[in-house]
Amino acid sequence: MNSNKTIKWVEAGKIFSRDPKGDFQCPECELHKLQSEDRYSEANPRELQRTIFCPGCGARYTLRLRRYDK
Ligand SMILES: [Zn+2]
Repeated sequence: MNSNKTIKWVEAGKIFSRDPKGDFQCPECELHKLQSEDRYSEANPRELQRTIFCPGCGARYTLRLRRYDK
């Protein structure tokens, strides 16, 4: 992963931390839009793990987000 790609993943992380249906091109293959999947940790219910991934090349990046009570 070169630094340019790292910057793009960080940008994607910012977008997806706000919007699970964020619109961002995969930084690795630049062919597909990234998708996201949320998972809650049973051990730590206040933590949300949001994995952003590319359906084409399989690149993935996991965000750890804090859940807030509604
Ligand atoms: Zn990709």
